[in-house]
Amino acid sequence: MVKRFPIKCETCEQGLILRLGMGEQKVQVFNIACPNCKQKISIIIEFDKSIKQKITLNEVIDGYSLKSFFNAIPVEEKDEFITFNLHAEMVYPKYLIHDKLQLPSVIVSPLMMAHAREEGIITEEDELEHRKKLKYLSIFDFLGGDGNLLEDWSIIKKAWNLHKSNLNELVHKELKRYTNYSNLPNNGKDIYNIIFHFFYRFILPNKYLYLNIENEFEKARKLNNDEMENFINYYKENLKDLFFENYIEIFDEYFNNFQEFNRVLLNNKINLHPEKDSESILCPVNFNDVKMYYGNAYEFFTSHILTLVCTNNVLNNRKFNEFENMTFNKYLKDVTKEKKSKPLENNNIFKRFTDILESTIRNASHHKWFYIHKDLPGSLQYKSGGTGALRQISYIDYLYKSNEITMSLATLLMIEIYLIDY
Ligand SMILES: [Zn+2]
Repeated sequence: MVKRFPIKCETCEQGLILRLGMGEQKVQVFNIACPNCKQKISIIIEFDKSIKQKITLNEVIDGYSLKSFFNAIPVEEKDEFITFNLHAEMVYPKYLIHDKLQLPSVIVSPLMMAHAREEGIITEEDELEHRKKLKYLSIFDFLGGDGNLLEDWSIIKKAWNLHKSNLNELVHKELKRYTNYSNLPNNGKDIYNIIFHFFYRFILPNKYLYLNIENEFEKARKLNNDEMENFINYYKENLKDLFFENYIEIFDEYFNNFQEFNRVLLNNKINLHPEKDSESILCPVNFNDVKMYYGNAYEFFTSHILTLVCTNNVLNNRKFNEFENMTFNKYLKDVTKEKKSKPLENNNIFKRFTDILESTIRNASHHKWFYIHKDLPGSLQYKSGGTGALRQISYIDYLYKSNEITMSLATLLMIEIYLIDY
């Protein structure tokens, strides 16, 4: 669904026509820079999912309502206004952003689907399955979009806190509110299984992101089950509690800022980096809240790949805590964050999984050396070191990288639940 808003920039009076593709989240914030004065213009839409679309004699009621404008005033439409096509959950290529007539989502959706097929993320069987279930094919559903993630995250977070206090009846009561709880198998209703289920939904349809890693763990199990059990005992005694605290903390930071990250999440789900030229028109809603996110996620990621590192040792016919050329203690204490993934380089699957890490972005994010570009509000400038050269990336690129590391963290969390259930 597309909504049309003719507005005037409050700062410079430039006229704009916003043609906005509506998404599935409760609150949807659209931010662009005014093409004339470069100041940020925002529009906030609220979506009431309980209202199904109905058409009465005089109007269409669809659950979407305009909540507020920032730096903009609604006005009568004029021919000379500049058109902006935006979608809450899709990134449009540059040539469609100012198109007055076409509906970009109709053009972009089949391209995204074709890309998902090419990547092997969506198979023909998946597609047939979808077509059976749905009356019409929504790109959002098809590419694993999920309008209930935020609500379900708050349920998981609360249930986890109750679980830590051993309030098992309350945990159970809380988990009953989880989406489709009644359809989960009976042995899939405990807190760990539901956390697994949630993050599997989060990475879908790219299930291979997880399955490829699990496959390596299965290989290690077949090769030396006793050693894997030694490792799991070590994990449960020394890592599990701390690691779960870390996950809850980092995913909470992510979902607290979900309206930012969600704008490019569909692209992440099918490994489709947004086209370079399309990136510069979207501006941060509140950059201060997300500027340290990548750095924080990086810290946890490089600690939590320890499960991969130990399993890789087993795969190389060693004890889980025995390295080729250093002691376990040295790996834990002396190896720097950027080098924690180095022992994985001889395993293609693990290497590809950790290759996403970008230490320059991490350094900038960790040390708050990130700024919004003063002339290009959709771009960021950063220094990779205190005195390093000034570099630039688009804001969308930053969001893409942040989603990428978050989906990998979700995979690491699922693998830990696999170990707990071993
Ligand atoms: Zn303006």
